[in-house]
Amino acid sequence: MEVLLARENGFCFGVKKAVELTEAATETGRSVHNLGQVVHNPKISERLAARGVKVISDPSEAKDGIIVIRAHGIPPETRAKIEAQGMECIDATCSLVLRAQRFTKQLADEGYTVIILGTREHPEVVGLLGFAPNAKVVETKEEWDRLPKMKRAGVVSQSTQPPWAFTALVAHVAEISQELKVFNTVCPVTVKRQHAATELSERTDTIIVVGGKNSANTRELVNLARMQGRTAYHIESAAELEPAWLAGKERVGLIGGCSTPMETLLEVKERAEALS
Ligand code: SF4
Repeated sequence: MEVLLARENGFCFGVKKAVELTEAATETGRSVHNLGQVVHNPKISERLAARGVKVISDPSEAKDGIIVIRAHGIPPETRAKIEAQGMECIDATCSLVLRAQRFTKQLADEGYTVIILGTREHPEVVGLLGFAPNAKVVETKEEWDRLPKMKRAGVVSQSTQPPWAFTALVAHVAEISQELKVFNTVCPVTVKRQHAATELSERTDTIIVVGGKNSANTRELVNLARMQGRTAYHIESAAELEPAWLAGKERVGLIGGCSTPMETLLEVKERAEALS
């Protein structure tokens, strides 16, 4: 059986930076706190925990040392809390998330009704809401069909949302608003990853997607493969691979989310080849 690795794999630049900054902080010998899981990947969380990094959910839980802000970013009030505590802070917010935060604030300041395509509880969306507390968050067609008519609407997206959903939402809001301003904040790295998943789907009917169960961009790859009529399995590590998934297959596709380390993918590849 052949295991086809997707053309795009490994960490995206935002995740790479967040992990490297956290690891560099541990070299200082001071206590290091990640405000939320630095990236949605259990292996990376374990690696950082082994270096003594603590995950906290609120800045007040850190009494000394360094706080690292993760790639998803934080709302401005949380940043103000860190500053008020006088703690050293390393900001690993991805530059693309900072860009989305800037546009969200701009739309709110200019008086637009802000519409965010995303998952309300996702930390990146929680961060965006900090810049536009009255924004409406929608994720499905059923949700955006319930939006009221608006005079001035402004649309942004959580970085990992699929581009087709963003296009469909914008087309809908154009019909229910008198004036529309759009900032396309879908991450081009995740779009490339989705294209790579589509390429795999053209070559095989079974795709193994590796990444954190809470990783939005990983889940999007699974959805995409299923929407294309393929069988997709979502696993976090090689140990979860089931021999039955591979039985009788000539080839299977393998792709990881933007927070899945290359070494985890290679472990899955090795185990899949051994099982076949
Ligand atoms: S997926 Fe895109 S927006 Fe998110 S951290 Fe990676 S590069 Fe940044």
